[in-house]
Amino acid sequence: MSKTIAVIPGDGIGPEIMAATLSVLDALDCGLSYDTVEAGMIALEKHGDLLPKATLDAIAKHQIALKGPLTTPVGGGFTSINVTLRRHFDLYANVRPAISFPGTKARYNNIDIITVRENTEGAYLAEGQTMSEDGEVATSMIRNTRKGSARIVRYAFEMAVKKGRKKVTAVHKANIIKTASGLFLNVAREIAKEYPQIEFNEMIVDNTCMQLVMRPEQFDVIVTTNLFGDILSDLCAGLVGGLGLAPGDNIGEGAAIFEAVHGSAPDIAGKGLANPCALLLAAADMLDHLGMVDKGNKLRQAIRDTMEHDRDHVTPDLGGKGSTQSFGEAIVKRV
Ligand code: NAD
Repeated sequence: MSKTIAVIPGDGIGPEIMAATLSVLDALDCGLSYDTVEAGMIALEKHGDLLPKATLDAIAKHQIALKGPLTTPVGGGFTSINVTLRRHFDLYANVRPAISFPGTKARYNNIDIITVRENTEGAYLAEGQTMSEDGEVATSMIRNTRKGSARIVRYAFEMAVKKGRKKVTAVHKANIIKTASGLFLNVAREIAKEYPQIEFNEMIVDNTCMQLVMRPEQFDVIVTTNLFGDILSDLCAGLVGGLGLAPGDNIGEGAAIFEAVHGSAPDIAGKGLANPCALLLAAADMLDHLGMVDKGNKLRQAIRDTMEHDRDHVTPDLGGKGSTQSFGEAIVKRV
């Protein structure tokens, strides 16, 4: 197959982990070409714009982007570029797999949980945030819609069917946030009936946190609203050894952006210390999305084998002495 994707190297460690990721994709021979465009601080410096129109146009044209982390300047009224991209392309499903890999200092070694987070509504709306004139009362709004809840729950079930997963757990706080979380839960119950082959479970978010820490093997696919999904997926990343292994896929009807969950890590940028695996795992998810599931699985297996047998080449966050480049090269040899 031949396909062009938009590539955004990003800020900080972005260019280093993107270079390693593209060399692995090239070695996998999956017929991809790259349209490299800019966003973030580098775009601001060069073009005076954090998110140039040419970048939006490239994503719209190719419909698929692989994105490095972007630094959003603090203060100055800058809106998060990631939030802007999700809104612009209506990337309503944020899929965050957490999978155990060998050789990590994680508490568990048998985790395989996919969090499907609603990415466009819930508590993350820009509207409805007010502060009283005296600064004493701050108000935020949660807005869930039937349409938004239905499409994310349906996405989770469809994904479960496609990937051969067994169970979907809807996570909520409908006992307290009766209207907004209640709507989400009711819709989840209705849609679950359309998928009798998949086990459905519902769980209150606070209990879910405890259950994830104590008995994570009971979870398979989690579907939840924006804020809970953001928090639970980081908890799951912690269960498997941290952000260096956590990919995040942002999926909409017209476009999809694949990225690492972590940020631009300015503390280690330019030092060759960054672990490229989160972006590589996002690239594996991108290959699945493009219908190249065999290649995606091959990439995941190569990462697994490298982490198990090539300890000298893994990066310091995983206890090795390798660099971003040597880690990438070791994976290239195994794909
Ligand atoms: P961060 O994820 O960049 O870093 C947190 C810690 O994890 C740091 O100590 C860092 O060195 C380490 N780390 C992160 N990725 C790593 C990797 N691949 N290998 C090894 N260690 C790694 O979070 P932060 O410092 O809070 O944010 C820095 C910048 O990134 C901010 O400007 C923030 O807005 C941005 N950010 C962007 C995204 C994104 O583009 N998706 C996500 C989160 C944060």
